[in-house]
Amino acid sequence: MDISKKLNDAINAQIGHEFEATLQYLSMAAYFEEEGYKNLAKRMYEQAEEEHAHGMKFFKFVLERGGKVEIPTLPGPKAVFTSALEVFKAALAWEKVVTKNIYNLVEIAIADKDYATQQFLNWFTNEQIEEEANMEGYIKLAEKVGKDHEYLLEGHV
Ligand code: MG
Repeated sequence: MDISKKLNDAINAQIGHEFEATLQYLSMAAYFEEEGYKNLAKRMYEQAEEEHAHGMKFFKFVLERGGKVEIPTLPGPKAVFTSALEVFKAALAWEKVVTKNIYNLVEIAIADKDYATQQFLNWFTNEQIEEEANMEGYIKLAEKVGKDHEYLLEGHV
């Protein structure tokens, strides 16, 4: 095995977080579908697919490095939302946790002097900048239009 046990365990936890994010975004997509917001739902489906792809990147990386993939039990996603603003705020809070988790992985890789994993994680660090910026943008718009006019967001995602 080319990665430490500690790093392997932490990446397995991250695979869980990424798949958990997939479920969370699907749950948000379902809420938007219920509200009749097709474009907002589409955006959340895309986000769910991205998170699944992130999980698979970690999954394949562990295998490539001769580690052991163990997918943790996933908690169920939040299912009840009352507004688009609430959805975007929950998504941003989620992405900030993901960013912290990735920084934690970077710290382990640095302590291990595992340069290959550090390189691999750079992509995720950069990806998180975009994820957070996107959600911050949506929050700004949702705050401007307010709950009564949130349908206007349909044209802006
Ligand atoms: Mg992700």
